[in-house]
Amino acid sequence: MSTREPGSRSCPICGKPQQSIYRPFCSARCQTIDLARWIGGNYRVPAVEEEPSSDDDGKIS
Ligand SMILES: [Zn+2]
Repeated sequence: MSTREPGSRSCPICGKPQQSIYRPFCSARCQTIDLARWIGGNYRVPAVEEEPSSDDDGKIS
């Protein structure tokens, strides 16, 4: 048996092991994300920005 602390859970945001100072999250970033969800569902957190898919308009025959 490994020395696991009782009540060790995973971050509800990303699933990583939570840190005691940020619990129940793993980092301040996930803490902010969860907070933002509380503030408003429409609020978007600029944490993960998806790149716009470029049009595949360069076909080589
Ligand atoms: Zn996390």
